[in-house]
Amino acid sequence: MNLNSSLFDRIRVKAKAKPQVTRQQIGCDHPGCANLGEFRAPMGRLREGQYFTFCLEHVREYNSSYNYFNGMSDNDVALYQKDAIIGHRPTWSMGVNRSARGFREDGTDAPGTSDPLGMFRGRVRDPSSERPSRPRYGLAAMKALATLDLDDSADAEGIKARYKELVKRLHPDANGGDRSFEDKLREIIQAYNYLKSAKLA
Ligand SMILES: [Zn+2]
Repeated sequence: MNLNSSLFDRIRVKAKAKPQVTRQQIGCDHPGCANLGEFRAPMGRLREGQYFTFCLEHVREYNSSYNYFNGMSDNDVALYQKDAIIGHRPTWSMGVNRSARGFREDGTDAPGTSDPLGMFRGRVRDPSSERPSRPRYGLAAMKALATLDLDDSADAEGIKARYKELVKRLHPDANGGDRSFEDKLREIIQAYNYLKSAKLA
């Protein structure tokens, strides 16, 4: 972790400038994390003046793992950040399923996706258009899916593929021996094991 990162300065400054009177009630914004959110992290260039609220572990992870966003467009990153803020919905918006679909679960458009004419804006989900074998996930499974950066559109194949991809990406061997991804990797393995034990993967 780079302790000289300008991010840390910005966090410190902001934390001093605005005491967090309600911090006891705020949960960590990291999907699936139940810890208190006691640290603020700037959301980035598209969200000036807005902040995530993270626990210590995840603010560290956030600051040290910007390469989570490698390969993501600004829109994807903003979408992730928005989802993390709004209602703690367990999506990271990195899911291939979501971006391939081009519209959001709540019927609004995902920015930057393939609906320039707004044809699907406000579209109500039509059960008959879903795959018939689509599983219904419980809360624990949804949390596990969120840990794997998936939403409830994921099927067993998608879960397996995402798991492999994440393990590959977060493995120390793939990061020049950097072990800062270990906690995330552990969470992912646990989540996947849960989904497997629940016969969902
Ligand atoms: Zn956390």
